[in-house]
Amino acid sequence: MAVRPLVLHPDARLRQVAAPVPQGAVGMDALIGDMFDTMYAAYGRGLAAPQVGVGQRVFVMDAGWKAGPKTPCAFINPVIVARSGATETLTEACLSIPEQEVTVTRPAQVQVTWTTLGGQDHSAWFSGFEAACIQHEIDHLDGVLILDHGS
Ligand code: ZN
Repeated sequence: MAVRPLVLHPDARLRQVAAPVPQGAVGMDALIGDMFDTMYAAYGRGLAAPQVGVGQRVFVMDAGWKAGPKTPCAFINPVIVARSGATETLTEACLSIPEQEVTVTRPAQVQVTWTTLGGQDHSAWFSGFEAACIQHEIDHLDGVLILDHGS
């Protein structure tokens, strides 16, 4: 596995809508392995494929590794299928926008469906930092950056 170069704002690749990953797509293990290496090397907790120049609907997350053991989680073709009415406001950073933080208000809980690297379909509710991170990363898959959420 390898650390890939990060795509930095204002690179136009960050503004493209990523394409769904076809079922049985090859090379996903290598891509996701590299995305974890890149995320950990950059001291991040989430990374979307467009941030390494790949226009596919994939992101990786490890919300807790800075405070405990690594719990890597990869999401292929993630979709937010439900959102709480309650919102939460957090200060967010982005590996593609160095040294800039933006205060973003998002639904506090989201229900997400996705496919795992092993090809299994999953659905789960997330809250707290994980919910914000997932919405941040899915924004990347739609060409949206935290700068767009600024007041
Ligand atoms: Zn980001």
